[in-house]
Amino acid sequence: MSRPVVATLNLSALRNNLNIVRKAAPNSRVWSVVKANAYGHGLERIWSSLSETDGFALLNIEQAILLRERGWKGPILMLEGFFHADELALFDQYRLTTSLHSNWQVKALANARLKAPLDVYLKMNSGMNRLGFSPDRIHTIWQQLKGIANVGQLTLMAHFADAERSEGIVEPMKRVEQAAEGLGCPRSLANSAATLWHPEAHFDWVRPGIMLYGASPGGQWCDIATSGLQPVMTLQSEIIGVQNLKSGDVVGYGSRYRANAEHRIGIVACGYADGYPRIAPTGTPVRVDGVLTHTVGAISMDMLAVDLTPCPHTGIGSPVELWGNEVKVDDVAQSAGTVGYELLCALAPRVPVVTT
Ligand code: PLP
Repeated sequence: MSRPVVATLNLSALRNNLNIVRKAAPNSRVWSVVKANAYGHGLERIWSSLSETDGFALLNIEQAILLRERGWKGPILMLEGFFHADELALFDQYRLTTSLHSNWQVKALANARLKAPLDVYLKMNSGMNRLGFSPDRIHTIWQQLKGIANVGQLTLMAHFADAERSEGIVEPMKRVEQAAEGLGCPRSLANSAATLWHPEAHFDWVRPGIMLYGASPGGQWCDIATSGLQPVMTLQSEIIGVQNLKSGDVVGYGSRYRANAEHRIGIVACGYADGYPRIAPTGTPVRVDGVLTHTVGAISMDMLAVDLTPCPHTGIGSPVELWGNEVKVDDVAQSAGTVGYELLCALAPRVPVVTT
């Protein structure tokens, strides 16, 4: 028997979540966002469970090629386009849709020798100030692109910084409206938050990521608890040691937890080298044999400690859910001061992954 930490991927939850996207945005096509190795789930493992999607959106050329080699013939959107002009040969070979966010990319595409035009997503900066052309340049660039033989179907794309707030897309939407006026262009604006909560932003293609994996774009499970979304990844381990603490005893590096009464703790075979957040404080939720309890003390590289007071019948070998259906990754992330995205993406390569 190997070290008892494992991530289980529920592939039917992935299909369910894609259906929830379809119901939320019935008139839009869907780019399933699978960047960051499918948000830590492993593109190779999961992509075929999303094969009912209209397209895949990602960043790395290697992952785009993997999808083509595994037989995906539909559209692939490269969310940040190409990083160097010489990648265009591969975009051409593998028929990838490119986003364009900078002048140098427009020039490189215009000068490339391609077998056939590439579809283009013109990326507008709608206020996030990360990538994209400013709204006042969209008309000019659009007309410029229309005149480039290497440009196929054109779509206007923007990304929201703040779609989890109800007012969060008002200004960006105004900017998009102004920029797109008179262009009659197809649009792709909506991430998960906008897919779930802003139908007015759906347009031609939505681009959900985190909701496909059953976590919340707003960082709180309660925001999506009634949406029908199901967590895809469950991270489990076991109790591999038990300590009986006396009042005043401390636990783990830095002695950050001190018992104020006698109680039992369990040592779980999962630590930050498995992707569990080191910063998670005492009190982070965990289930031991189905019973809700919490971590105590600092998270070590390979272990963490949990309070066994609420579950007196547990001991060595008892199953532990670090996150999944019972303990939501959003709740663990919230306790650690981060978001579910980060925990899912950070699952360590040493954790074995099984699919069901
Ligand atoms: N579109 C773009 C351009 C993105 O960068 C991302 C992710 O950050 C998404 C869509 C998907 O976002 P989410 O995972 O919040 O749905």
